[in-house]
Amino acid sequence: MKNRVADILKSMQIDPGQFSNGNFKVHSPIDGSEIGTVQMDDKASVDAKITDAQTAFLKWRTVPAPRRGELVRLLGEELREHKDALGALVTAECGKILEEGKGEVQEMVDICEFAVGISRQLHGLTIASERPGHHMREYWQPLGPVGIISAFNFPVAVWAWNTALALACGDPCIWKPSEKTPMTALACQALMERAIAKFGDDAPEGLSSVIVGLKDVGEQMVDDPRIALVSATGSTRMGREVGPRVAARFGKCLLELGGNNAIIVAPSADLDMAIPGIVFGAVGTAGQRCTSTRRLIVHSSVYDNLVPRLKKAYKGIRIGDPLATGTLVGPVIDEASYGGMERALDAARAEGGTVTGGGRALEADYPNAYYVQPAIVEMPSQSASMCEETFAPILYIVKYDTLDEAIALQNDVPQGLSSSIFTTDVREAEQFISAGGSDCGIANVNIGTSGAEIGGAFGGEKETGGGRESGSDAWRAYMRRQTSTVNYSRELPLAQGIKFDLD
Ligand code: NAD
Repeated sequence: MKNRVADILKSMQIDPGQFSNGNFKVHSPIDGSEIGTVQMDDKASVDAKITDAQTAFLKWRTVPAPRRGELVRLLGEELREHKDALGALVTAECGKILEEGKGEVQEMVDICEFAVGISRQLHGLTIASERPGHHMREYWQPLGPVGIISAFNFPVAVWAWNTALALACGDPCIWKPSEKTPMTALACQALMERAIAKFGDDAPEGLSSVIVGLKDVGEQMVDDPRIALVSATGSTRMGREVGPRVAARFGKCLLELGGNNAIIVAPSADLDMAIPGIVFGAVGTAGQRCTSTRRLIVHSSVYDNLVPRLKKAYKGIRIGDPLATGTLVGPVIDEASYGGMERALDAARAEGGTVTGGGRALEADYPNAYYVQPAIVEMPSQSASMCEETFAPILYIVKYDTLDEAIALQNDVPQGLSSSIFTTDVREAEQFISAGGSDCGIANVNIGTSGAEIGGAFGGEKETGGGRESGSDAWRAYMRRQTSTVNYSRELPLAQGIKFDLD
């Protein structure tokens, strides 16, 4: 695997030699082998990078926004040129299949293009003043350095979602990638540096940097008051630690945390569409997407038709090397992840569930990697273990009789990221996306729970953290709102008609 990774790096004109003298080993989940080493940051180097970002902010905030957008456009060009190679590096480091690795890079290109447009649309409001001869306006101003914390399962796209918008908005970025995927992060930084070199002198030193390390370097960034916004993607456990620490210093926080996403299959559902949607949602990325389908809520009248067809579809899933053509499911990230899946299946059995699948796959071929058989678990009712996010390909199935009951089950978990309904009944579809329907940040009709486009705001409610990234008006999180009242008269009337006469 090391040689394959070296070839991928060379095709991006990145010297593989830079990954040979570090003090931290990186392993591929494909076969468990070491693919390189990286140098960990320490307290002093993190501090220096934050200082540089703060200095960079003082200059970058005054560069006109459409010119800042030009840097993002150049980054998008680099990403487009190296899409296949960076996609393959994502696959080698996090184990998702090559199609998904390339798809993740396409998402980066898409957000860059979106952010270029946004750089000319950082619109504020003009507001009517109650006082004669006065104007009120609302401006969006650059915020300050943005600290990005990312998870292993989307090792590059999450950075791009944040960085493309933050740079357009006038904010330098410091990225703490997952300790499981530092090489893709350093490759992205190399592409960013090329874009900066093409952009020229307007881009100050320290505009974009990566800090490599475990959670302690993330914590240092979280606690530093110079980091205006911490955008943290990962588990709810991580968010529980990060959120209060940032709040304690009155910093801004954007949290994108765990999901526990359900699909409702209604009596009128088109099962030929529902089945591929469910299977991709449940087993794609080996069940390691925040938007993976984890729960299926099926109407009693279609249960006996749908579930055998699903089990048949699961038998055809090709598990194996994610770099190989035709593979649909690669490995889970590590042994701990496999252990978590097995524990969850044991818990489901103890709660009365019937498990089809599960267990290790391809152990003889890959003794040091963790390929698993995706599992379907038929449950008598929504149990305690169904309310937790297990980051593995487990699909729990329960029955329902009325749509109200299905929606209540869908909402009755601590997380609130993605949800969907398969139905051809317009009343049911509209109820699902109404105020009394799904309580998630994402509510889809006749598509699955995973695979969001960048044009919409992405994120979820409750234990998912409440943050929104990517499209729509998510750019506002990276800016500071400023209300300005200008008096162009020769009087000084006070608001609310207050009289304050000086003799
Ligand atoms: P994780 O929480 O273990 O780690 C995520 C990142 O947080 C890593 O970079 C880690 O080093 C860092 N970190 C952990 N504790 C920290 C602390 N106290 N202070 C600062 N940084 C800290 O998550 P993971 O295993 O890499 O990823 C899987 C999880 O991420 C799942 O729960 C998944 O649902 C979630 N996720 C959510 C989204 C989303 O957009 N909502 C996207 C991808 C992944």
